[in-house]
Amino acid sequence: MTLITLRQALDAAAEGGYGVGAFNVTDLVQAEAVLSAARETDAPVIVQTIAGASAHGSDEVFWEALVNLAARYEDVPVVLHLDHGPSFEDCERAVNAGFTSVMIDGSLLPDRVSHATFEQNAAVTKKVVDFAHAHGVSVEGELGTIGGSEDGGATVKEIVLADPDEAERFVAATGVDALAVAIGTSHGAYKFTSPPDGTVLRMDLISEIAERVPTTHLVMHGSSSLPADLREQINAYGGALPESWGVPEEEKARSTKLGIRKINQGMDSHMAYAAAARRSLAEDGITVDPAPFERAGREAMQRIVAERMHVFGQAGQARRHRSAKPVAAS
Ligand SMILES: [Zn+2]
Repeated sequence: MTLITLRQALDAAAEGGYGVGAFNVTDLVQAEAVLSAARETDAPVIVQTIAGASAHGSDEVFWEALVNLAARYEDVPVVLHLDHGPSFEDCERAVNAGFTSVMIDGSLLPDRVSHATFEQNAAVTKKVVDFAHAHGVSVEGELGTIGGSEDGGATVKEIVLADPDEAERFVAATGVDALAVAIGTSHGAYKFTSPPDGTVLRMDLISEIAERVPTTHLVMHGSSSLPADLREQINAYGGALPESWGVPEEEKARSTKLGIRKINQGMDSHMAYAAAARRSLAEDGITVDPAPFERAGREAMQRIVAERMHVFGQAGQARRHRSAKPVAAS
């Protein structure tokens, strides 16, 4: 078992000056793609999933299988992370399932639409930190509100940028290991209507906040780049994705120099999977076995995840964890 905590992964990344991609998976096939990409590039990796958003019948079935799958990748340092935990109870379930990291998204109230006050956010985050740390598990919190929707659920359109003063107070009040900061990115497959420039993405906020919370690692959400070739392939096989721009690769690489350590990538690898699966289905009208299109999806996903690992700088960094003592799943 080479499960490591988010704290271990990001401390090493800070030391090495690189970022670690956190890739969303909604089934075991995709998890295999991400873990295989990490093995292929000799990278530490964060595999993350959202409660209630998998293809499997229950979180518990999927999460248990995820922990077992990660254990098969003995040579890969893996963080198993709950993305956007909506409540203390969801984070508690993930910790009990053996995850080594959880995000409590206290920026929204449990209806997932209304904004929480700073005090409400800090209170639920502190509660999760106390519980998770007692189990040797890391915690990511969120400050400001990142717009859009990652799981197709309730959508918050308004982006509330993170505030450096609040970031400092939030970290002091909660003791989070990592902090998601809203800098203008948004979730989902529709981001910007034109290529983002310096006025859309507030890169300056990253370094300002990083200086104020030196021992807490910063996280960029909604940082997929939405490759045009994948959109075209999806649309060529029956999709209807509108033209949209995401975060350019060079901006992601630059963000790791400014203090971003965890880079959330959901859409790009899902687009790669969907494009390959759609093509496979369209080109073979006879086969009804799902395995061929799932396999095509997995291979395409592994390729794009491996590419991202080189961009973020985590490729070749697994060695930093080889001497570290792995954490036991609780
Ligand atoms: Zn997010």
